[in-house]
Amino acid sequence: PQEPAFAALPGDIGVSFEFFPPKSEKMEAQLWNAIEELAPFNPRFVSVTYGAGGSTRERTHATVSRLVTETPLTPAAHLTCVGASKGEIDEIADAYWDAGVRHIVALRGDPPPDSGGRFTPHPEGYASAADLVEGLRKRHEFEISVAAYPEVHPEADSAQADLDNLKRKIDAGASQAITQFFYSTDAYFRFLDKALAAGIEVPILPGIMPVTTFAAIRRMSANTAIPEWMESLFDGLDERPGPRALVAATVAADFCRRLYDGGVRDFHFYTLNRADQAFAVCQLLGLRATGDSQ
Ligand code: FAD
Repeated sequence: PQEPAFAALPGDIGVSFEFFPPKSEKMEAQLWNAIEELAPFNPRFVSVTYGAGGSTRERTHATVSRLVTETPLTPAAHLTCVGASKGEIDEIADAYWDAGVRHIVALRGDPPPDSGGRFTPHPEGYASAADLVEGLRKRHEFEISVAAYPEVHPEADSAQADLDNLKRKIDAGASQAITQFFYSTDAYFRFLDKALAAGIEVPILPGIMPVTTFAAIRRMSANTAIPEWMESLFDGLDERPGPRALVAATVAADFCRRLYDGGVRDFHFYTLNRADQAFAVCQLLGLRATGDSQ
């Protein structure tokens, strides 16, 4: 007999959640509500993004510090090279270290909107994420995660050049990578094979982005292919939040189950500060918010 699609898994799964720093009191309440709801899944870490151009320096720090002082969670602070000198980055890194933060997600950052899409390093700053990793490692004993792109970063000269760059980031001292979101399990597994062949042996966590609205997903996916079957599945749902959320959670859970079947045990969720989708997917993966697994 065929196994039910969502038969219990053995509970050997680890999860992590990404949040962004809130801009208003209302968004702050929403964020902390999401953190409270997801905390019982015992995430391995929770990460907090750094706004484009370093625009959330204080807010990212405030959110991460509050995670340290008010929750048992392990926070990871995102940090980018954009618009900051090496000295300023050192100050930010020191402040995190002093606040008890031990995990940094080190990124180059996107070029500002007025730059014509080209990244220009600060004259006294870091030129790439690999340089930033090296600088951070010299300063403190941080655990460092970096970004990876199963469907290739849009500015890379080639897939191989992008992989070489990932290798440089690992060689500079990063101990894990987190991927851009993707909707093709094949693309991810092919990427893992190529990374291994290139000598990259650290974990490469899949970044899971359940569909919010289809329009939003299309806007955010620079190099992420959106399969035709998904377009068709979400057809007519952009104005129907209730059914859309149910369909999105089912699709994301099925996606994670397929990754699981291919050997993946750690999943990183882009939550956009909302708990429901990630919660439902964790539940469908057999995790329980009681801290137990099914
Ligand atoms: P890098 O690894 O430096 O790579 C950038 C590009 O340059 C790539 O195309 C790479 O192949 C190329 N490159 C680098 N060095 C060389 C070299 N020596 N020779 C040739 N080519 C080279 N952005 C934010 O602003 N804030 C965030 O909090 C944030 N969080 C993110 C989290 C994750 C998990 C991911 C996947 C992305 C995140 N981003 C964030 C987006 C990220 O900043 C952008 O994708 C940015 O354009 C690239 O950053 P990177 O760290 O991958 O850069």
